[in-house]
Amino acid sequence: MKNTMNTTQQQFASDNYAGACPEALQALLEANDSGHEPAYGDDRWTERSSNMLRELFEIDCDVYYVFNGTAANSLALAAMCQSYHSVICTPVAHIETDECGGPEFFSNGSKLLVAEGLSAAAQRGKLTPEAIETLVTKRSDIHYPRPKVASITQATELGTVYSVDEVRALSWMAKKHKLKLHMDGARFANAVAHLGCKPAEITWKAGVDVLCFGGTKNGLPVGEAVVFFDRELSQDFAWRVKQAGQLASKMRFISAPWVGLLDNNTWLRNAGHANAMAQRLYKGMLQIQGVQVLHAPEANGVFAHLPKALVDALHAKGWKFYQFIAGSGCRFMCAWDTTQASVDALLADMHSLNV
Ligand SMILES: *Cc1c(COP(=O)(O)O)cnc(C)c1O
Repeated sequence: MKNTMNTTQQQFASDNYAGACPEALQALLEANDSGHEPAYGDDRWTERSSNMLRELFEIDCDVYYVFNGTAANSLALAAMCQSYHSVICTPVAHIETDECGGPEFFSNGSKLLVAEGLSAAAQRGKLTPEAIETLVTKRSDIHYPRPKVASITQATELGTVYSVDEVRALSWMAKKHKLKLHMDGARFANAVAHLGCKPAEITWKAGVDVLCFGGTKNGLPVGEAVVFFDRELSQDFAWRVKQAGQLASKMRFISAPWVGLLDNNTWLRNAGHANAMAQRLYKGMLQIQGVQVLHAPEANGVFAHLPKALVDALHAKGWKFYQFIAGSGCRFMCAWDTTQASVDALLADMHSLNV
């Protein structure tokens, strides 16, 4: 079958396929039109977006901007660990599976300890307090890399969302064993949109020490914020960012789009829309014979087993989506700009190509 899609077709492979939202671009243009500005983060836009994040989180946190999520996670974890420490995470954690050893590299060797006995399907990508305790109490001798951080992903890599109580239970266990709690929030906005809670409630009030707040998947051209609620952990972080090649010279072009995103709750609307499109896709997919959706989406992705013939036919028709490693299903991601028409077009092809 020929690829009949034109290049403007929306896709479901990654929420990173989407462009930047108008609000972010508008702020970017304003930053460009406002004349000369100090470089390296000493500009008005960076001050403003950082203050907006402090307001959003209702706390005087330390904020740093980097180019992508891998750098945000790697540098945040490096700031929380010595080289002989370790970081507890799930087997499907982005830091474990998709960062090319970045956290280990930037921390000069801190080891990731993958939680054992967590069935990806049963836990749906979530870490548990028991898994933390098992890894911490397993060994205490000098030959074992000392656990220092528990890292959770919100929303998870499997499209689920930790409740406030779940995060509280994890942080309680982490604190019990003197661990810090790191949150990979590449899709933090989608999680907050799902929970309908205040950002403070699901982060520092629930015991999160450092949040990597994803802006890119939410509608920025580029840029993630590293938010330190435990401000002692951000000591020298600026130097870490610079050494890693993550300090934007013209920082205002990272921070101004954040202003656009945070202003008027655009970030939350973008995420809510992406989540709603995932719900629409999910409901449609339930009607398709032979398609087995793994669980109801809580964020902006749908995970499902599809017959191989259908997967091949959809790919041949030009649809792009990942065959997800964890759970061996397919992953369909919706973005801030995913239209109902795109969802319906994909569903129509799923129906018609399903023989
Ligand atoms: C996308 C993503 C990141 C960031 O990835 P980059 O490509 O480095 O920006 C981090 N964590 C999770 C869970 C992600 O999905």
